[in-house]
Amino acid sequence: MHFELIIKYQWTLKVFFTILLLFVVLDLLFPLPAKKEFSKEIHAKDGTLLTAYLTSDHKWRLRSELEEISPELVKAIIEKEDSWFYWHPGINPFSIVRASYRNITTGETQLGASTITMQVARMLEPKKRTYFNKLAEMFRALQLEIKYSKEEILELYLSLLPFGGNIEGVKSASYIYFNRPPKKLSLAQSIMLAVIPNDPNTLRLDRSNKEIIKNRNYWINKFKQEKIFSSSDLKDALDEPIEKNRYAIPVLTPHFSNYIKNNFAGDILNTTLDLSVQQTAENLLLRNVNKLFYKGITNGAVLIIDNRNSSVVAYCGSADFYDEGSFGQVNGVTAIRSPGSTLKAALYAYAFDDGNLTPQMKLADIPTDFHGYQPENYDLKFYGNVTTEFALVNSLNIPAVKLLEQVGLNNFIVFLENSGFNQIQKQKNKLGLSMILGGCGTNLQELTRLFSSFARKGKLFPLNFISDESESKGEQIFSEASSYLIANILSGINRSDIVNLSNYSKLPKFAWKTGTSYGKRDAWAIGFNPNYTIGVWMGNFNGVGSPSLSGAEAAVPLLFDLFNAIDYNSDVKWFDVPEGLYMREVCSESGLIPTQYCPNTIRDFAIKDQSHNDICNIHKPVYVSLDESIQYCTGCLPSSDYKKAVYAVYQPELTVWLSKNKYDYHKPPPHNPNCTAKFAEGGPKILSPSEDFEYFLEKNSGQEILLLAASDSRVKTHYWYVNEKFLKKCKPGERVFFVPEEKELKITCLDDKGRDGSVKVSIKYY
Ligand SMILES: [Zn+2]
Ligand SMILES: [Zn+2]
Repeated sequence: MHFELIIKYQWTLKVFFTILLLFVVLDLLFPLPAKKEFSKEIHAKDGTLLTAYLTSDHKWRLRSELEEISPELVKAIIEKEDSWFYWHPGINPFSIVRASYRNITTGETQLGASTITMQVARMLEPKKRTYFNKLAEMFRALQLEIKYSKEEILELYLSLLPFGGNIEGVKSASYIYFNRPPKKLSLAQSIMLAVIPNDPNTLRLDRSNKEIIKNRNYWINKFKQEKIFSSSDLKDALDEPIEKNRYAIPVLTPHFSNYIKNNFAGDILNTTLDLSVQQTAENLLLRNVNKLFYKGITNGAVLIIDNRNSSVVAYCGSADFYDEGSFGQVNGVTAIRSPGSTLKAALYAYAFDDGNLTPQMKLADIPTDFHGYQPENYDLKFYGNVTTEFALVNSLNIPAVKLLEQVGLNNFIVFLENSGFNQIQKQKNKLGLSMILGGCGTNLQELTRLFSSFARKGKLFPLNFISDESESKGEQIFSEASSYLIANILSGINRSDIVNLSNYSKLPKFAWKTGTSYGKRDAWAIGFNPNYTIGVWMGNFNGVGSPSLSGAEAAVPLLFDLFNAIDYNSDVKWFDVPEGLYMREVCSESGLIPTQYCPNTIRDFAIKDQSHNDICNIHKPVYVSLDESIQYCTGCLPSSDYKKAVYAVYQPELTVWLSKNKYDYHKPPPHNPNCTAKFAEGGPKILSPSEDFEYFLEKNSGQEILLLAASDSRVKTHYWYVNEKFLKKCKPGERVFFVPEEKELKITCLDDKGRDGSVKVSIKYY
């Protein structure tokens, strides 16, 4: 008895192991084919399909995840195709037996119903219907069942079902036939999608609707008999009319979607884009571009970042992707453009951290020669002695260039390279001081991201495009204190680049910086508050400038509209004063630590352990006559009838500029005209030409070179020498012109106190 059982058992075991071994060998020899390529889909944060792309074999093959599909559709398909799907191992023995029996009794050669798993195998590797291929399909079905879960097999099935033409999968069909995601299908629509794959080439929704209705209703009635769905739902489904149109796969945000497609892997990409903010931004951008059209400004771009997690919530690469006349297919978010003055905000923040600068410190905005580079202001005026705050808010050029020279061009370029400015990294060897006025290339994305760091306590975060990306730590590029100072300075409303505020009743507070590139080709406005950072660019993609193309005129109105629309009446709490920041008394005229001589003080911010502690260098005691009409030096001081009085004594260049422009300030009286004292220190400061400058002059053209020097107020006369040969006598600050005759020149200026200064320049002729 036992013996017999063992024999029997052994035989079964042998068969079992032989089959198993055969399967293992076949599995190794014929591994499962790879899953098919799916269409790339881009979704908004709320799940809306923004767009999808054809696969490389030109199919709409949108991958379906089970939770995206209406349960009725899944149920209808399983009931119709393979009601034992969840119970069989890929092959349904009953249906094989049934088919074989039928073949024997009727003499027909039917292959019998395939399981869903076998159908997946066939869709992955389409083959002719033969007995052998049927066996191969069964083998593949077993492989699939071992490798994938039932849910995964079902998802593959739903994603590969043919719907005629180049439409594959229920998701593609749902969008193209019903213009809706597969979750929102009605029961009638679900049953239709279960029916069409039976004969996708005949059952085409736009061509053979009668046939489709006939098939649909057959299954509705069948489900009614089998009580698969509630009978009232099925009754409604019978009455549902059929759609006549096909729809295109949506194309909602082409620039954004293309950017995501090209930069992120995966087929279903769920982004952080907020569709309502996006639509607001698109509408406002188009409206503003239309307004400016007659002024020769045809396009613009907008990028909006949520400052809580640096996620991109709106991204408009152009006003109208399909407007070829204005090159709408160029992406203005990533296009390399000149940033105008926008980078000044970063430079000032950098200098605050460097300790060079505090908001009330004075900077000289006077004509200055930076080795032959002589920048001017946007309005072609100079403002003299101004606070740092004023210089930044009004975007003055000379103080910015001087500041860049002071902190070091190279240091600042390295800083920008490390802050994600790729084009600047590429150009770094060619950049000069003019880069801070826009003489470099960057794009809206890099700039807006940089500005968002001001809103995030000085930390620069990678932009977050994909919703499940966990946020990285961010890099501290500015101190929190410096970021706060920039936010405070740039949120002031006493400035020229502002719109009429009476148009906005509940505008939230925000800080902004504008920029206009050389030749008026680009207008920028980049703003931030604790909630959002918004970047706006306006211009023409063909690079043509327009007289109206300035940050203030062309870009600021849109920036204000955007904050007004997306952050309207928000209870935005402004940034907290950070710990590292404190207030201190400074001299009101220099912005430096006051001395006993400073007449007035004001309060100014300083960064703990970072800001300089330089003392006021302009308020100085001077020997004067009792009526304060004559100034003395120790060399000419009389024995009586003099006193010490405090005056504002500026550096010579500024003194020259202030007196020439008739600025009234408490300046010392003229120096004793009878003074004969000689001085050892100081001496004329040559303002033009600059040291080591190379002139390119046309030969024999008689072109002149400007000589200009400044001295302190005691000096009455300058004597100019060229290569030790006397040229001319003049007053300090007076312009002298001469025609050079030699190639190498040593230019010397001697003052009446016996001091001199010289520069060497070379002349090249063409
Ligand atoms: Zn002072
Ligand atoms: Zn003197």
